[in-house]
Amino acid sequence: MTSSVPKRIVILSGPSGSGKTTLVRRLVECAPVKLVKSVSATTRPPRPGEVDGDDYWFLSDEEFRRRLAKDEFIEHAEVFSSGFFYGTLWSELERAWGLDGWAFLEIDVQGAMKVVQQYPETVTIFLRTPSSAEFERRLRARGTESEEVIQRRLATAEKELQQAHRYRYVVVNDQLETAVSEICEILKAEEKARNA
Ligand code: 5GP
Repeated sequence: MTSSVPKRIVILSGPSGSGKTTLVRRLVECAPVKLVKSVSATTRPPRPGEVDGDDYWFLSDEEFRRRLAKDEFIEHAEVFSSGFFYGTLWSELERAWGLDGWAFLEIDVQGAMKVVQQYPETVTIFLRTPSSAEFERRLRARGTESEEVIQRRLATAEKELQQAHRYRYVVVNDQLETAVSEICEILKAEEKARNA
């Protein structure tokens, strides 16, 4: 990779149930800059309908550890104290940069802060729901998680929300299209600042 390739990264964080997945899909389709979604690696088993290499790289514990030992991750974290690991592979960033795009990471707060340490220019966006009651409603409406997992996610969301001030931008995901256009404006301004 030549040094002339701009290393642009945008991170979107927010509790699962904040509507991230749909938003990410919409942004990749219609953002005014080229966003290349980084496919994270995880040891969590796939949910129904999830596709390896598309939603995540689904790895065994052993494979995840092997890649960790080879320094293949820019960051990794155990998320929700679930025993499952998640991590961003350098190869995903390089793929995005090679396409002259922004590497678009949907990762948690711990991971976001590790990336920022290494790339302080990273554009960080925290996505929040209008209220914690609404967040709980969305989480339950998804109907894919057990009560225990829901409780753990609510606690994590509460903790994450307290970290929102560490992000450059906070966007409320009340109306999907409003949040999409708000983030599009942010990206347009950030791209312009980089090209100035
Ligand atoms: P889920 O299991 O619902 O797909 O994702 C759970 C959480 O893991 C989400 O909050 C998501 O942001 C986070 N996550 C996904 N990929 C990564 C990653 O590569 N690194 C880190 N640190 N967190 C991730």
